[in-house]
Amino acid sequence: EQQERLQKVIANAGVTSRRKAEAMIVAGQVAVNGTIVRELGTKVGPRDHVEVDGVPLSKPRLATYLFYKPRGVISAVSDDKGRKVISDYFVDKQERLYPIGRLDYDASGLILVTNDGELANLLMHPKFQVDKTYLAKVEGIPTAAALKQLRQGVVIKGKQTAPAKAWLQSSDRTKQTALVGLTIHEGMNHQVKLMLQKVGYPVMKLRREQYGFLDLTGVQPGEARKLNTKEVHELY
Ligand code: URA
Repeated sequence: EQQERLQKVIANAGVTSRRKAEAMIVAGQVAVNGTIVRELGTKVGPRDHVEVDGVPLSKPRLATYLFYKPRGVISAVSDDKGRKVISDYFVDKQERLYPIGRLDYDASGLILVTNDGELANLLMHPKFQVDKTYLAKVEGIPTAAALKQLRQGVVIKGKQTAPAKAWLQSSDRTKQTALVGLTIHEGMNHQVKLMLQKVGYPVMKLRREQYGFLDLTGVQPGEARKLNTKEVHELY
């Protein structure tokens, strides 16, 4: 569990500047777990109870961001191979944020990033089925029969996928490629790629366009916007 210097914790909570927090500590205005602390080097963790002038620091604020993940970014907070990760786009934020679920390294699109553990657990629970809409560029032009098969469900990894929405968004006869829309609510690994592969149309490019009622309107690749209270409530 992460330990941080007391003055930094006070400053991050928005009480005052780090310098003034140091002065308050020295002046005996700060208590940790009920005991006045005057040592500037004191470190505290998330479970320590900090009071300034007898007033508890507020709990860390919950924040959830809608992020447009570019291709070539890992859906994680760190990567042992040193590849770019989602957290790299949130270094200026105070909160300790992590992505809710995953998008493949080579896929782009909408992913939520949060420090709200309860929300993350809820949304990732199999029972809580959020519709996710993808746009896939595929090799070949899917037939009506292939689209019907996608809608009814196909067997991948020995499991039948649930009924889905599937449609042909556009097609290029010369290049023999097409854009296919797919709305699913399950979250098997590589599900969209595997479903399209299964019906004979390998995915060349993949983007998640929607997550529940949220979409990418107004957000560019590599950008994030904070969800407002109403949006967060609608997710719960
Ligand atoms: N399906 C995939 O194949 N990849 C993703 O990243 C998401 C859904």
